[in-house]
Amino acid sequence: MKIVNTIKDLREELAIFRRQGANIGFVPTMGALHKGHITLLTKAVSECEVVVCSIFVNPLQFNNPDDLKKYPHTPEEDLAMLQQAGCQLVYLPLITEIYPPGFQALCIPLNNIDKYMEGAYRPGHFEGMLTVVKRFFDLVMPDKAYFGMKDFQQLALVRHMVNYFQLPIIIVPCETVRESDGLALSSRNRRLNPDQRKQAPAIYAALLHAKKHFRQWGIENTKTEVAKIIMQYPALRIEYIEICHIETLQPLPEGDTEKAGIFVAVYADEVRLIDNLILT
Ligand code: AMP
Repeated sequence: MKIVNTIKDLREELAIFRRQGANIGFVPTMGALHKGHITLLTKAVSECEVVVCSIFVNPLQFNNPDDLKKYPHTPEEDLAMLQQAGCQLVYLPLITEIYPPGFQALCIPLNNIDKYMEGAYRPGHFEGMLTVVKRFFDLVMPDKAYFGMKDFQQLALVRHMVNYFQLPIIIVPCETVRESDGLALSSRNRRLNPDQRKQAPAIYAALLHAKKHFRQWGIENTKTEVAKIIMQYPALRIEYIEICHIETLQPLPEGDTEKAGIFVAVYADEVRLIDNLILT
């Protein structure tokens, strides 16, 4: 496994793979890797001859400076996990090359896909995310790129961006990987203390409950019931609960239960957790 930091070295390594005619899979991450990331990697390894992974904690997508400061870093463990998973090339970019002086954030119409949920509660987050993903796509020019469904709205926006620019990249969605008690794996889970960790699985339990009763309860009652479950846990504080169309990501009106997904953001004290589940 090769590790590169500069655009020049990245291009040189990629050129070798391209000369061999290899198809290239790409997994962008912010590090502090866990089994969720590795599932993306493993899928990429199974589908592509060469897999490139980037690790870059993108300051542009953090709307909360404290969240950025506390974002976990585990570089040695990350590299060992990538090597083990069969990654051939790791790109650890220099921030000065990703954002040279005078760079401009990506600005494209987002068709309101960013209007609710994460887009509403984390202003600037998706512009920052899309800016860096577009930059990586231009540099790596992968055939396929892998994204987790845990960040469902992110995945929808990346697909939209690829479609908008007509990029020749296949976006591969990957199922959310969970702990045995249902908690969605997240780099931020490392920040949970034992008590918060014990309460956090209630989020997924509430989503499963919603899925079971959604058709009978309808939209508003389902949201109320999910809130009731989560609010039983003193460490948990709901930021939003939305039921949206899984393609447009617009909130569904009462009575419309097709292609519905439930999306939540919940704070376990100061640690922000998101999760979602397709309902129908
Ligand atoms: P991050 O490092 O948090 O930016 O995540 C990098 C990629 O891993 C994104 O496409 C995420 O959606 C994906 N990912 C993060 N957590 C999970 C998970 N629990 N299951 C599946 N994919 C995940």
